[in-house]
Amino acid sequence: MGDEALPRGLALDQAFRAAYFMTEQYVALEREPDTGLVLYEQYLHSDPARWDDWKQAVRRALSEDATDHLSENLDRDERARRVLELLIDAVSDELHVAAGMCDIDLSEQQFDNLTAAVTSRLDSAFDFDWAPHWVRPGSVHTWPVEGGVRSRCGTCLADSPPLPQKETAAQWAKDHEASHAH
Ligand SMILES: [Zn+2]
Repeated sequence: MGDEALPRGLALDQAFRAAYFMTEQYVALEREPDTGLVLYEQYLHSDPARWDDWKQAVRRALSEDATDHLSENLDRDERARRVLELLIDAVSDELHVAAGMCDIDLSEQQFDNLTAAVTSRLDSAFDFDWAPHWVRPGSVHTWPVEGGVRSRCGTCLADSPPLPQKETAAQWAKDHEASHAH
């Protein structure tokens, strides 16, 4: 079944079943599933408290901040758009470094034109995907928006809310990034 055949929303019990099947799929995928995981599958399958716990989890999911990386399940077009923006950023960065090394003096407009030319060629000629090393170590993709600055997580491509400064936005991405480490 293709993505286009999937509904935008599910009833509570349908969503519960989907969560159960996801766990079942994952247990089947693991060669030696952890005991805790098997117990969790049994809990979803038959525990008397499961429905109350499920409703509580749904309430929590509805109330939590949408920038949580768990809720950033990007559809493919949205992801492609974010990857392209990051490519533009990486190419622009590289051009600035190269121009600096070769002592070439260009205006920001000229940099933008060159960046657009290179990235549109890359975009039409190659299949590529984001890799965290596109961003220099310790640096974070940030950009100005109405009401502040946003940053993008280099791992899951989640975006920060608008934050007052570039530094606070960059810090958001670094803190968020750390949540992927465990
Ligand atoms: Zn992330």
